[in-house]
Amino acid sequence: MKFATKAIHAGVEPEPHTGAVMTPIFQTSTYAQEAPGKHKGYEYSRTHNPTRTALQKNLAALENGKFAFVFGSGLAATDTLLRLFRPGDEVLVTDDLYGGTYRLFVRVIQHFGLKFKFIPMQDAQSIESHITPQTKLIWIETPTNPLMNIIDIEAIAKIAKKHNITLAVDNTFASPYLQNPLDLGADVVMHSATKYLGGHSDVVMGVLITNREDLAQEFGFLQNAVGAVPAPMDCFLMLRGIKTLHLRMQRHCENGAKIAHWLRSHPRVEKVFWCGFPDHPNHEVAKRQMRDFGGMVSFILKGDDLEEAKRVMSSFKVFTLAESLGGVESLCTHPATMTHASIPKEQREKAGLKDTLIRLSVGVEDAEDLIDDLKQAIG
Ligand SMILES: *Cc1c(COP(=O)(O)O)cnc(C)c1O
Repeated sequence: MKFATKAIHAGVEPEPHTGAVMTPIFQTSTYAQEAPGKHKGYEYSRTHNPTRTALQKNLAALENGKFAFVFGSGLAATDTLLRLFRPGDEVLVTDDLYGGTYRLFVRVIQHFGLKFKFIPMQDAQSIESHITPQTKLIWIETPTNPLMNIIDIEAIAKIAKKHNITLAVDNTFASPYLQNPLDLGADVVMHSATKYLGGHSDVVMGVLITNREDLAQEFGFLQNAVGAVPAPMDCFLMLRGIKTLHLRMQRHCENGAKIAHWLRSHPRVEKVFWCGFPDHPNHEVAKRQMRDFGGMVSFILKGDDLEEAKRVMSSFKVFTLAESLGGVESLCTHPATMTHASIPKEQREKAGLKDTLIRLSVGVEDAEDLIDDLKQAIG
């Protein structure tokens, strides 16, 4: 099946008792058993829930994976993955990443004895010198949040395989519509499904997807043993959101391209970060591993003045100043005080993230209205 058909049909069967086309919300914590241990595959909703099962099958199909496991948030998914590792294990992490992931690694998981090394990965070959016998996981995001750096998934996957290291890719920014890391050799794909997958800014959820049986066994065990599972209602909302993922992504990409080009031609704009520009440092890699360039665009104004950047962000009428991304509505974010505030300023600046950077999640509204809004806000 092709992507659009999978988005609508994968994992979703008419409900056998009534024929209901949409998967019902199985709002139950437990299931009747005929005799102790004799049941229809469902015992308790932390372990399994039919609404969640349908969603997991759907998500696995979207990433060309065999197994998917959903969690109460993107960070809960990442936290569960990190529980595969043991004190002394080392993790190589891209130095430009979502602030909450940085905070989870450094301020939570590190206390349990894992070591995290944050390094630039735009030059894939350069990471090999950081690998030690203790390196067990490579964690990448691409495009990165918020600088839209592109990391060559296939090249990193080759290095990971050579050293027997697990490669996990946070695919939140691209969504499975634009990029499928498992096809490029990654072992695990993680999504903050809160963003493009859900797409309507009404659910917080995360997912881990893999083709590896050994990892799937561990994830299934941990999903139940740790218990950071999403509610049936949220699984239903996610299934509903995903049905239009391909349509939304088409418009996100169209609008993103229009706005990136418009911003770049504006005399008051210093720099625009968007991987669709032919002079983006890894544009060729983006073209190879992505189907289009997405709706995330960051920019810096000339003069690099924080007060002026704040004035612009407070002047929008259609864009909403808010955390998050990937919803139908356009959002504007100030990474330094919002999504990336948990990364120390010094570390942020080392990775090239300035306090004056403005990040846009371009929605699916009319592009002309969005450009008019930028025009009046930037002045
Ligand atoms: C939002 C986000 C996360 C965290 O996901 P939550 O659902 O908010 O827990 C992880 N990675 C990226 C790239 C994100 O944008």
